[in-house]
Amino acid sequence: MRGCKDSMARNRFKDTRQILSREQGTIIKDWGGRLPVALMYPNSYYLGMSNLGIHAIYRLLNSYGDVVCERVFLEKGQNTPPVGLESGRPLTDFAVLAFSITYELDYFNVISILKTSGIPLYTAERDERYPLVIAGGACITANPMPLAPFFDCLCIGEAEAILPPMLPVLSEGIGSKRQELLKALLKIPGVYVPQYPTGTPVVRQWIGNLDDFPVTSTVLTHDTELGNLCLIEVERGCGWGCRFCLVSNAFRPARYRSADGLLTEAENGLHHRKRLGLVGPAVTDHPQIEELVKRLKQMGAELSVSSMRIKPLSPVVLDGLARGGARTIALAPEAGSERLRRLIAKRITEDDILKAVAMVVGQGIKQLKLYFMIGLPSENDDDIEEIVRLTLACKSILDKQARGGRITLSISPFVPKAGTPFQWLPMAPLPILEHRLSSLKSQLQPKGIQVKAESLAWTEVQAVLSRGDTRLSEVLASTETVSLPAWRRAIREIKLDIDFYAHQQWDTNYNLPWAWIDLGTSTEHVKRELNRALTTIGASS
Ligand code: SF4
Repeated sequence: MRGCKDSMARNRFKDTRQILSREQGTIIKDWGGRLPVALMYPNSYYLGMSNLGIHAIYRLLNSYGDVVCERVFLEKGQNTPPVGLESGRPLTDFAVLAFSITYELDYFNVISILKTSGIPLYTAERDERYPLVIAGGACITANPMPLAPFFDCLCIGEAEAILPPMLPVLSEGIGSKRQELLKALLKIPGVYVPQYPTGTPVVRQWIGNLDDFPVTSTVLTHDTELGNLCLIEVERGCGWGCRFCLVSNAFRPARYRSADGLLTEAENGLHHRKRLGLVGPAVTDHPQIEELVKRLKQMGAELSVSSMRIKPLSPVVLDGLARGGARTIALAPEAGSERLRRLIAKRITEDDILKAVAMVVGQGIKQLKLYFMIGLPSENDDDIEEIVRLTLACKSILDKQARGGRITLSISPFVPKAGTPFQWLPMAPLPILEHRLSSLKSQLQPKGIQVKAESLAWTEVQAVLSRGDTRLSEVLASTETVSLPAWRRAIREIKLDIDFYAHQQWDTNYNLPWAWIDLGTSTEHVKRELNRALTTIGASS
């Protein structure tokens, strides 16, 4: 048995050496006298290395002379303890495990990492002999309650705003009694310590000037989804205020990097990759986007953007993308009918969508990806027919202008997200979603349109965790394997009701589990937006 463990450890070490040998920009530091922090991405290296947040925090933490930060990932099916990528050291050697959590279904991996690493699962069971376990990221900022009992502290807001005041407290207090350290951390704005709830709101922290913290691919590797790109963050937050959207509520206000700062980052990136990926919730909203694209083209960059609004859509930007080799453009009508687009406050009409498609196709781009949601509140079969009709109208524009064009639909069920005006609204029942998805597939696939969708059953799990409270932590802790039967068994044993969390409309007076988080938007505003939405469909909260 001992021999087997040694051999697994040797293999892991060999794997990490191989991964590092294919990277550019890895930061290797001596541990002597430094605070060792493990930056934990609770999913695979392949996914994590395309996550700009990981690059940003890795760079930020390693910019401190007295900190050494290493990355940790969890590969699918891995049941051995993960190790620091740079040194191959076990997690118990680190002073701090800092998780970045951006997806609810990764909660299962958080549990698995702690269990396999021999670190007690609950914060109450850990003392100064174990690493301090902290977390941040979009899910933590919106509603960390299903995970709260596992963490020593939770960061509400942006890492760049919270880590600088937190690091001196950690360096000073990491060797002292754990309860003393937790009490010291409690005083930092944006930090929530589950063992010491204060009863006062924790205010989300964010940085005012993005230029103070450049965010680009720090480590380049081809072993990741977007490995042929150097990624550059262009903006943060989004001012459009779509009512279902977490970005517009948890990352507000919309902030943009200066064109000069972005060009400097682009110049650096072009030494390593000829293709740049501009990243942000609505990249084409950048006030100097046309100038920026022109300059990047002059520098010889090929371009790709993570997301574009359908309106306004700039011909200059589209031209830049087309000349830069973009083969696919993704657009997000979100709903097929005007009625549902008004409900979600998407602020685009069918005419805008068709014009955008014509512009894209006019640039010679033949592949379109269209994002739609199903199961929006009040949706009926007619709304699904509207998705079919709109998609076919887009296809006919494509067919007229481009031979060999292709449309792919990406379908996501509506999931209520904490902190948004739709947080009180229900996810549609699974049988209805299944019926609507199969209706889309049966009508569109014979016409050559690919329809892709996430697993509906797993989306339901996501909805439960998204509106979950601390009772869900028991379910997470007792789910033996990451599978739907294991999840349902654990839910049954703990006697929780999936329907309540995922499929019921909540009264707006219900005391929300995340009510102690001050995202920066008043509850009155969020309720007003909900009521405006419901008025458009003749309902009330
Ligand atoms: S435009 Fe996109 S990112 Fe902005 S609020 Fe709407 S859905 Fe969210």
